Amino acid sequence: MPFTKHSKTTLAAESSAKKTLPEKPVIENKAKNIDGRSLAIHLKEDLVKRINVLEREHNIRPGLAIIRVGDDQASQVYVASKKRQCKEVGIRSFEHVLPGTIEPEGLLDLMQSINEDPEIHGLIVQLPLPKKFNSPEIIQTISPQKDVDGLHPLNLGKLFCDIKGGFVPCTPKGCIKLIHSVQKDLKGLKAVVIGTSNLVGKPLAHLLLKEGVTVSLLNAKTKDPKSLCSQADIVVAAAGVPYLVQGDWVKKGAIVIDVGINRLVDGQGKPYLVGDVDYDAVSKKAKAITPVPGGVGPMTVACLLENTVIAAENFYSS
Ligand code: NAD
Repeated sequence: MPFTKHSKTTLAAESSAKKTLPEKPVIENKAKNIDGRSLAIHLKEDLVKRINVLEREHNIRPGLAIIRVGDDQASQVYVASKKRQCKEVGIRSFEHVLPGTIEPEGLLDLMQSINEDPEIHGLIVQLPLPKKFNSPEIIQTISPQKDVDGLHPLNLGKLFCDIKGGFVPCTPKGCIKLIHSVQKDLKGLKAVVIGTSNLVGKPLAHLLLKEGVTVSLLNAKTKDPKSLCSQADIVVAAAGVPYLVQGDWVKKGAIVIDVGINRLVDGQGKPYLVGDVDYDAVSKKAKAITPVPGGVGPMTVACLLENTVIAAENFYSS
């Protein structure tokens, strides 16, 4: 029988083929990947313009001093990245490396001289410091006007008291920009922030409160974090616990920001980075999610550069 499109046999074959076709694969709802690298590039492009204005109109080139104490490997990598990115946008950076054996007085003397140096607009002390240092005490000797990490009690106090003009810590500032890249108006939303450090959790909770968000701040002793998370429109994980936030912790359509940076080692002994969120599982439920690496990290550095530019802008206007 000649093959015709509409022959009975062909139709029969088609219909039986239909029956045997495998079921359509279920298309999983994949979250938007919030690309921290590209948002950071946009922010840095804007900073280049502001730095050009500072140079052209005020003859000021922003300067950032970075103090590193001891030989913490991760700190070396972070500081190298900060210096490279300073150079990219036109900020002068000065790294001061002190041996881990130095006494606190030696560190404080260096900080004092940087506080008084008019060429330097921002000063950061790379954390963590070796155990013998009392980090909060060291941080509060940074001049608040140069505290571009935003960790001095005066700057944190300004943030918590809604007083303008202080420096906002870089990671929370970056997290808010990442959330805004998905949704501008956050009023009335519920957020869960996991982790209560001065560096991330507490200032971020306050920034979210200022946006009209109802915030729950979770710590290591919180009972049933899963049920609290599963009610949240925004989940921010900043606990330093790999894969803490699982797929069934997150409500469908939530925005998930993964601040965690955890170094693990694979079967071959090769190190790799993971966040606090099980990305694969959570991205099937969330509306948008940040990857690790490539999410919060680049925005943290971009916000450090932004704070340094603000410090330089404040310098000429003061
Ligand atoms: P931290 O150790 O100072 O604070 C951790 C917080 O998490 C504490 O409040 C603790 O109570 C809470 N916590 C610990 N285990 C918990 C659990 N099982 N459930 C709920 N809460 C828990 O840490 P940090 O300095 O705030 O940093 C947190 C994480 O974020 C770390 O992985 C750090 O490396 C990372 N980090 C990333 C960036 C970035 O730019 N991406 C910046 C800063 C910190």
